[in-house]
Amino acid sequence: MRILVVEDEKRLVAGLRAGLTADGFAVDVALTGIDGLWMARENSYDAIVLDIMLPGVNGYKVCEALRAEQNWTPILMLTAKDGEWDEVEALDTGADDYLTKPFSHAVLVARLRALLRRGAPERPAVLAAGDLRLDPSTRQAWRGEVEVELTAREMALLEFLLRRRGTVVSKREILDHVWDVDFEGEENIVEVYIRHLRNKLDRPFGRDSVTTVRGSGYRLEAHGG
Ligand code: CA
Repeated sequence: MRILVVEDEKRLVAGLRAGLTADGFAVDVALTGIDGLWMARENSYDAIVLDIMLPGVNGYKVCEALRAEQNWTPILMLTAKDGEWDEVEALDTGADDYLTKPFSHAVLVARLRALLRRGAPERPAVLAAGDLRLDPSTRQAWRGEVEVELTAREMALLEFLLRRRGTVVSKREILDHVWDVDFEGEENIVEVYIRHLRNKLDRPFGRDSVTTVRGSGYRLEAHGG
């Protein structure tokens, strides 16, 4: 069984490599998200142990990219208890399981073996809020059973709102995640695109999923409006 470990903490990597090798796994290591993505594309692994906080491309992006390419290698995501990211999100991006640091080696191996037994089902992660759904791997969105055509930017905005569903996100956060970080234009562009989403996903269906929170930003209601 060949495992790819994508982790930038060198001490943890050394421990993982030694422990997993002793348990009979063949272990490859990538120290960055870019390298991890490249190795996962070039080689066939039975499972991937993927850290979230990585320099450059983070673990979520690696996971999303692989799933978008129809690569369903089982992924065990490592999360830190810093509250910045949560486990639900790890599973949303297409990870199969997660483990919070620090973890014991025995637990890691038990989880890995469980994943390996399950194998790699074709199980795309669909994001949903009520009957509002988006499949990041195929770039399709639906309200109920009706597929809704969205532009690439509208799709990216909806995906971001769905990943943060039930919480308030500011225009600045939306700009940073959906537009380039160095986007120089007006924050008002966000309002324009929020309006597009409402016109496509809410109004024709008599729904109201995106709430304006005065002075703060927007919230996509978890029940989908
Ligand atoms: Ca890390």
